[in-house]
Amino acid sequence: MKMKVRRVIDLSHTIMEGMPVYPGDPIPKIVPFSNVKEKVSSLSKITLGSHTGTHIDAPRHAIESGVSVDGVSLEKLMGEAVVLDLSHVEPGEAITFSDLQQHEVKEDDIVLLFTGMGRRWGDEKFLTNYPYLSLDATEWLVKRGTKAVGVDWTSIEKYGGKEHPAHDKLLSHNIPVIESLVNLDVVKGTRIFFICLPLKLKDTDGAPARALAIEFET
Ligand SMILES: [Zn+2]
Repeated sequence: MKMKVRRVIDLSHTIMEGMPVYPGDPIPKIVPFSNVKEKVSSLSKITLGSHTGTHIDAPRHAIESGVSVDGVSLEKLMGEAVVLDLSHVEPGEAITFSDLQQHEVKEDDIVLLFTGMGRRWGDEKFLTNYPYLSLDATEWLVKRGTKAVGVDWTSIEKYGGKEHPAHDKLLSHNIPVIESLVNLDVVKGTRIFFICLPLKLKDTDGAPARALAIEFET
């Protein structure tokens, strides 16, 4: 087998102290636990919410009996992805079924939604003001046989609602959600080989993940 990697585009945010988190989520802390100068080696103690930075929502995030992140099928999190350019959608606006249906989405595609919010990551006001997925958009994604859905903003759900219909719709169909991707501008409007691997946290609702677009030599 001949398969040479030409370029890897990192679609993940850097996890660090002071990074933005969804309002109310745990604040990331990374502190030295031991130091190579004083002890044999350097180690850090890390405290994170399970939805810190670029992360996966497992079905259990919205559904009590849903699959936890360690049980999400890895086949769903890698393979051909289509990156839809939805940069016309403003923060606070819905992405609707008619926004999506203008694009070619095939069965078993991973669908990544580019809005440009990834570049606004450091700006606090966009933690509560971002585009969201309408229910008819999530229904369309389910009907198309989408394998996973990824977005470049904080949450697929409209901010401030008491319910979470977008999460319920996708996660009840075992479609994992990837939130807070970045660098989708590099690949917007194209098809890519995508891989996104969450930490294997037992019985957990989600996990930080490293997400990549990989270009191979042809
Ligand atoms: Zn999440």
